[in-house]
Amino acid sequence: MHYGIDIGGTKIEIARFDADWERLDHWRQPTPAADGEALLDTLSAMVAEADRRTGDAGTLGIGVPGVIDPQGRLIAANLPGLRHLSIVTALASRFARPIALENDSRCFIVSEIGPGGSAEGAQHAFGAILGTGAGGGAVVDGRLLRGSGGFAGEWGHLPLSASARDRYSLPALACGCGLEGCLERYVSGPGLVRLHRHFGGDAATAEEWHRDWLAGASAAVLAHECHLDLLGEALANVVKLLAPQIIVLGGGLSALECLLDGLPGALSRHLFPGIATPRIVRSRFGDASGVRGAAMQGAALAQRPANDRTAPSE
Ligand SMILES: [Zn+2]
Repeated sequence: MHYGIDIGGTKIEIARFDADWERLDHWRQPTPAADGEALLDTLSAMVAEADRRTGDAGTLGIGVPGVIDPQGRLIAANLPGLRHLSIVTALASRFARPIALENDSRCFIVSEIGPGGSAEGAQHAFGAILGTGAGGGAVVDGRLLRGSGGFAGEWGHLPLSASARDRYSLPALACGCGLEGCLERYVSGPGLVRLHRHFGGDAATAEEWHRDWLAGASAAVLAHECHLDLLGEALANVVKLLAPQIIVLGGGLSALECLLDGLPGALSRHLFPGIATPRIVRSRFGDASGVRGAAMQGAALAQRPANDRTAPSE
């Protein structure tokens, strides 16, 4: 049996999977506010309950919204109570099993190349999550790419190109990461709304922008064209660097047909001859990929020899 845990800002979800990756059950608890010890207690209780249901100890993987340093500590997480807390070390003393800890955007692509995923079996894949932010993860030569420090795949914090900024007279927006002009500020859900305002629209949400776009409102149409162009350029850069055969889109914006329809053309305009445009598909598991990918990472870690279980980002 394999367990996956997804720690979010407001809730923690755990799911149990069988050997064929069918989800047997799942349940949730509120995320304890800004308190590492309370969080560890909650995680422990959830794993203990999973063991009780299984009648045995399952493998364990945990997905978190943040960057994990080589010591297994969370940095730059949206969960202040968890910062600098070594979840793996703390939990390993409570449960006698290897524990995989992975960024939730990386869990997303692991789940999508796994059984039943929209990129099942792909050896070269990129997951791009377009929700409140723009997260991502890459699989290269069949392996999840982590790199030094474990943050490989953070395409949302690449800068908007100067030519794109000039083309649309876009302002340089400050990003939560501390840099300026990060793509995330323009291509995420809130980014699309910002573009709409930039072209004179007044939508407060991506849904409102979409309603205006369906009605043919010029600001909404311009925002859509600009958004596709920025996204196409950004993903073309990813393609030149990592050569994925398939790009899996997740997050709220991936539900938009107009995005999926327009993106291959927008992307190919920023590639040079000889590079094929990868297939672009919508994720199969969506929000459930956090627990699923985490569980797959936990199962993979448990299969490795005990002397080869160093933290993945080391
Ligand atoms: Zn940034």
